[in-house]
Amino acid sequence: MGYRTAETNITVQLVHLRLNAAQMAHCQALRREAGRCWTALVQAHLASRAGLWLDEGALKTQFKGQFALHSQTVQALAEKLIANVETARELRKTDPDRLRNKRHTALNIRLKRCVPNSRRHKKLLRSKARASAKFYRQGRDVLHKASRQLVTFAVAEQVAHLAVGDVRDIADGTDKGRQQNQRLSQWAHGQFVGYIKIKARQCGISVEYIPEDYSTRTCSVCRYCHRAAPRGRVFTCSGCGAIVSRDGNGAANICSRYRYGEYGQVQVQALTYLRATAVVPRTRAKVAGLPPEATPR
Ligand SMILES: [Zn+2]
Repeated sequence: MGYRTAETNITVQLVHLRLNAAQMAHCQALRREAGRCWTALVQAHLASRAGLWLDEGALKTQFKGQFALHSQTVQALAEKLIANVETARELRKTDPDRLRNKRHTALNIRLKRCVPNSRRHKKLLRSKARASAKFYRQGRDVLHKASRQLVTFAVAEQVAHLAVGDVRDIADGTDKGRQQNQRLSQWAHGQFVGYIKIKARQCGISVEYIPEDYSTRTCSVCRYCHRAAPRGRVFTCSGCGAIVSRDGNGAANICSRYRYGEYGQVQVQALTYLRATAVVPRTRAKVAGLPPEATPR
């Protein structure tokens, strides 16, 4: 096996050991000790999240000499933990749906290679089902938390009615390409609205679907309907020159349609994002000449 990174090229050789019973028992004891050390490291890391963050060096110093292990083993375990933390941090940045699809594809490839109904086949099917269930639970958790946040906000602002843009037919009769089609079909909007309805009703707030055709393309200030949806997160109107956030413009239009039956009656006054967000990400949308303070926050 060879591991190649930017600077190093390490070759690992696997050597079969012939061990007697006593040596085997010793190995097992060491493995258990390493497990104990790992658990202690994880606990220390979790505890440190609330206060002073323990980095790799601090972990190594804290656990040095506390276990019946070679100091380098403890160091290696600490390094592994920090590597795991960093990997998890990177993964959190990526789309969970894409992660699920990747995992499913990998398992499907392995499933194809083995004999149907063999033990290996059954084992892989089980792990596919386990992964599926886990991703479902993770997604459900996110939707519950988001809907709770929305309803809490609505209660605090004394909102009586919620208008939700109806996207139930968004994927009907359109082909937006392989990736976008998959993304649309996996978008759990119905589940999300369902959770909002349950939580909102408990607080006496009504929830209603509003058709949202052309709401992204229509200017909420002058009602000019553009030929295409804006590229990027900023909506720039070529009719009246208004510069609004894309999300804010769409939300204002849906609110206007609910309240007055048409677009253009409601404008965005202030917009607050709960998390820092790149206003001009990925796309090559031209928002040149846009002063930085005009970007929505
Ligand atoms: Zn306009």
